[in-house]
Amino acid sequence: MKHTLAALGWALCFATLPHAALAQDPGKMLGGLLQNILKPNAAGNNSAPAAAANNTDLVGLLSQSMEQIDEPKEIEMGRQLAAVLLGAKPLHRDVALQRYVNRLGRWISLQSDRPNLPWTFAVLDDTGYNAFAAPGGYVFVTKGLVDSVADESELAGIVAHEIHHVVAKHHLAAMRKSAQTGLLTRAIASQLGNNAQGALSAQLLALGREVYSKGLDQSDEFDADRSGVALAARAGFDPYGLVAVLQQLRTAKPDNPVFTLALSTHPATQVRLDQLEAAMGQRLDALSGKPSPSVAQRMAPAGNR
Ligand SMILES: [Zn+2]
Repeated sequence: MKHTLAALGWALCFATLPHAALAQDPGKMLGGLLQNILKPNAAGNNSAPAAAANNTDLVGLLSQSMEQIDEPKEIEMGRQLAAVLLGAKPLHRDVALQRYVNRLGRWISLQSDRPNLPWTFAVLDDTGYNAFAAPGGYVFVTKGLVDSVADESELAGIVAHEIHHVVAKHHLAAMRKSAQTGLLTRAIASQLGNNAQGALSAQLLALGREVYSKGLDQSDEFDADRSGVALAARAGFDPYGLVAVLQQLRTAKPDNPVFTLALSTHPATQVRLDQLEAAMGQRLDALSGKPSPSVAQRMAPAGNR
């Protein structure tokens, strides 16, 4: 950790990325995002063409060891969960915003330990304040969250936190834990009769729903905070971004509906801040003070291209 923080340097700032690595056709952006999520083989990268075909025993796999869930299956599970999520909350229609968040997220994911996943980042059309990740490289933030961050480093901190959940397979592990209790899957299967494909998808969905409504283990959240700070820093962002977000969340009233879900599925914000401080301490102090552009400022030049 010390090494990664010490080794940063602002030269790798987001703005200096080679343009080719970021190029997206804005007109096709929303359609492309949807395609990535809704069509199994459109994700490109290293998702194996056979990933979706072998759809029938994803839930069965969850009762096995983590090692037996290979990357294509992990990606396929995440894609199905992402599709469900998108069914509930559509993508925001601002193509420039989608492009910006994708670019930001992909750049950060390239600094992670799993740069080759088919990373997909998207903004959901939702005024609430939330961020989600699904196995295999899917990360969603709500429009409400994007609107509420003070600057780019805060958004980067949140996205990096979610990226680490994917890198460390936190949701996959949590779903596996739920699946192994067996109770949930049997209950769902009996409700759905013998439609195997439908029943299995519904089981996956039920497992996902349970994990997303209950939230992850606290230790996974602390891990994502610590690693998210380091990852955002490695990508050239002010590592205080996530800290600033947590400070904002701490002062949010628990009954403010905008923050309800984010607060209920994560450990107490003060505890998260204490944990981060203990982990990062003075190493963070040495890095503070770099002003970050706001999201609006960052998007302005991109919109003129
Ligand atoms: Zn989290």
